[in-house]
Order: sequence, then C-alpha cells, then structure tokens
Amino acid sequence: MEQIYTYGNYLTNKFGCKVYKVGINISGFTCPNIDGTVAKGGCSFCENDSFSASSGKTKELKGFHLNLNSKENPFLQKQLEQLEIQFNSISQIQSTKYGAKKFLVYFQSFTNTYAPFETLKALYDRALSFENVIGLSVGTRSDSITDETLNYLAKLNEEKEIWIEFGIQSVYDETLDKINRGHSSDNVKKWILKSKAKGLHVCGHLIFGLPDETKEMMLETSSQAYKWGIDSVKYHPLYVVKRTALGNDFIKGRFIPITEDDYLDVLVESIKMKPKKVSVQRVTAGIDNDSLLAPDWCRDKNTQIKHINQALKPFGLKY
Ligand code: SF4
Repeated sequence: MEQIYTYGNYLTNKFGCKVYKVGINISGFTCPNIDGTVAKGGCSFCENDSFSASSGKTKELKGFHLNLNSKENPFLQKQLEQLEIQFNSISQIQSTKYGAKKFLVYFQSFTNTYAPFETLKALYDRALSFENVIGLSVGTRSDSITDETLNYLAKLNEEKEIWIEFGIQSVYDETLDKINRGHSSDNVKKWILKSKAKGLHVCGHLIFGLPDETKEMMLETSSQAYKWGIDSVKYHPLYVVKRTALGNDFIKGRFIPITEDDYLDVLVESIKMKPKKVSVQRVTAGIDNDSLLAPDWCRDKNTQIKHINQALKPFGLKY
C-alpha cells in the first residue's frame, strides 16, 4: 500500500524532525468579503463569528478592524502579545503531547495579508523570532495581497520556509458568484503564479460539493490547481453550518449537500490525478458540534478518515 505524500512527510523530510503548524488567530483582522470592501456577509458557507480570537484576546481589540488602507494601528503591541501568548500555549501542547520539535506559525483565521504592510511585517517578524520556528504559513485571499507584502514574504523565504495558502475553491466563476466569493478564478490563478515565480511555497484550498457543481467540474478545479503549480493541497467537502447564507438555503431546500459516496469518489479521483510532489494537508473537514446543519457524515472525523482509506485501498493508496 502506498502512503499518500502528506505535508507531514514533506516537513519531516525537509527538517529531519517533527514540525507542527501552530494556528494563530489575531484580533483586528477581518476579510474584505465581510467588511463590505468586496462584498458583505462573506462567503455563503462562512460563519464569520467563528473567527473571533479566543486566546490572548483583550477587551481593547473588540470591534477593532484593519484593512489595506488603515493608516495606523494603535493595537499592534496588543496583537504582538496575543501572537506570543497563542504561540506559547499551542506549541507547548504540541511539544509535550505530540513530540513536536519545530514549528511553522500559521496565520489562519480571516485574511492574513489584509492589513497595512507595517503591521504585517511586525507580526511576521515576531513570529519568526520565536524559538524553534522554521517558517510561516499565511492564509489569505488572492484579492487581498499587495506586491509589497508578497515581495517581503519572498525575501523572508530566502532564509525561512514561507507558505501562502490561497482559497481556490472552484475554477468556475459562476460557482464563485453563487457562494459570494467576491473574486474571480483568474485572480487566484494570477496570484498563485506570481507567488510561485517569487519562489514562495503555495497551498491551495479546494472545496467539493459547491452549489450545482458536477464531478467533472470539481475534477477540473483540481486539474487546474495542479497545473498552476501548487505545492500542497487541502481538500474540503462543503458542509453547512448555522447562521450562514448557505444554512438558510439548506433549510429552504435550495441547497443539497454532497453525499459521502460522491465526495469519496471525487476525492479519490483528485488524489489519483495529483502530481506526486504535491503534498496533501487535508483530505476532509467537518465539525462535531451543534452548529453543523448538514451533512451528518461531516460530524465524525475518524469515521471520515476510515471511509477515505477504504475508498483509496482498491487503488493501492492510503492516507
Ligand atoms: S474569504 Fe474566508 S474569511 Fe472571508 S468570508 Fe470567505 S471564508 Fe470567510
């Protein structure tokens, strides 16, 4: 049985030890698709509330939001403290519980290049100064990154391991419109190609089960993303949570989530098509609490992984 090349394999091979991503959630960051710059309400599946920073949050930062045109950031010091508090608590658990030796600081929630350059530079520099940090992974939208920021990340990449994670979701603009994504597929392609040209490492996020998409469309998205040269991939099923536009559509019978069988079918095909050197960071997603409306199979991650391995087995593959 051949083990799929995972991101964990990639990091262990490169750094010779266990490297863990430390997910960070900084207050004051938002998204142009939520604050009204591009659209309001966010992507139809996005529960915006779920992005409120929980660790190291201070009262002062409540209601404070940055954007690309923000002229000043009176809370930068607080944000730097928050970064340090979160990094220390999460990395300590990863060390003691899982034997992590080195860390990649993952700016995870919202759009982590959507702030003035000086703020971003200070946060990235501070993150890279922590002990045993070998690099960064910055999650963002392709319409929210400037050349200045990209160039700075490319400069950091000369000494450290710098990743950018772009939400690709689908290469079909009609689908992106249906989920209120607020940018085109061409825009994602452009910034992925630019990032690659500067030597940065790129992870692409794909969603299967988007409204009205066929299996062929989902596979075309995978195929295009691989052609654009992504180095790593996260595959997600589209699941529906409460307090979202998609949740309303689901309740009114206007959206039917992908079945587990259909998801497994498209996932296995996508993995088989994948160039070997593209590492896999995620093969599914879900949420095990009351906020999940559907599908129910997205509740239990262990069962999902078991079923994924059963679906991969006939092809001599395992995750
Ligand atoms: S881009 Fe991300 S943070 Fe912004 S609305 Fe969409 S899912 Fe939410």
